[in-house]
Amino acid sequence: MKKLIVANWKMNPPDRGSVIKYFSQLVRAKGALKHADVVIAPPFPYIALAPRTSSFALGAQDIFWEKEGAYTGEVSGLMLTSLGVSYVIVGHSEQRRLGETDEVIAKKIRRALDTKLTPIVCIGEPKRDPDGAFFGVIRGQLERALVLVKPQEASRIVVAYEPIWAVGAGHKAATPKDAAEAALFIKKTIAARFGSARAKSLRVIYGGSTSPENAAGFLAERDVAGLLVGRESLSAKSFISILQCAAIHS
Ligand code: PEP
Repeated sequence: MKKLIVANWKMNPPDRGSVIKYFSQLVRAKGALKHADVVIAPPFPYIALAPRTSSFALGAQDIFWEKEGAYTGEVSGLMLTSLGVSYVIVGHSEQRRLGETDEVIAKKIRRALDTKLTPIVCIGEPKRDPDGAFFGVIRGQLERALVLVKPQEASRIVVAYEPIWAVGAGHKAATPKDAAEAALFIKKTIAARFGSARAKSLRVIYGGSTSPENAAGFLAERDVAGLLVGRESLSAKSFISILQCAAIHS
């Protein structure tokens, strides 16, 4: 199975021209795109600027849990699918830091599934302790996030293991072994809740300071189904280099 590699642009780049340039660079790199299932998650206003192509899928960085109505500033799942979006990031640590609760995350995942979007559910501990208590933290986040998910829907979810201590500027990536161990733990937690057959096809990807230099190490791990890339997805050149690391695993 191909690895899943997701670009999370966050609140970047600053203008339309940069977006058009990025997409044209990406489309020209067709060869690199074929090694992985590639998802680009731009900020909402840029989604409509993406070219219609089968070379990569579109993701959104958020979704509102209600279907439609008087919710100023919010964006619905139906709006996203009508623009060709098929994935949505939910529960990112940067949203949790701004006050997003487990209850809200669970409702957003529910809405994503109801709208036929694939939720990329982000979980990860704030810090690692040598005694392994952090496993309990990620299990708790996962269980609370998935309370509204039915067993038969488990395989439609992607879990992004993003240890907070590894995400963003000034941080250091986890090791591939740590990422693989956490991915396996997440699969076991899903298996305990939804059954092992359903957990088998669940994709657990890793995010946190990935780069062209370290991507191959993560992608070589069987239990790591792909990457969620932040900063290094902002340059088309770096992101394409990361995609090229997937060549030997496709
Ligand atoms: C992220 O924010 O999802 C992320 C993984 O960021 P970075 O790659 O910059 O650590």
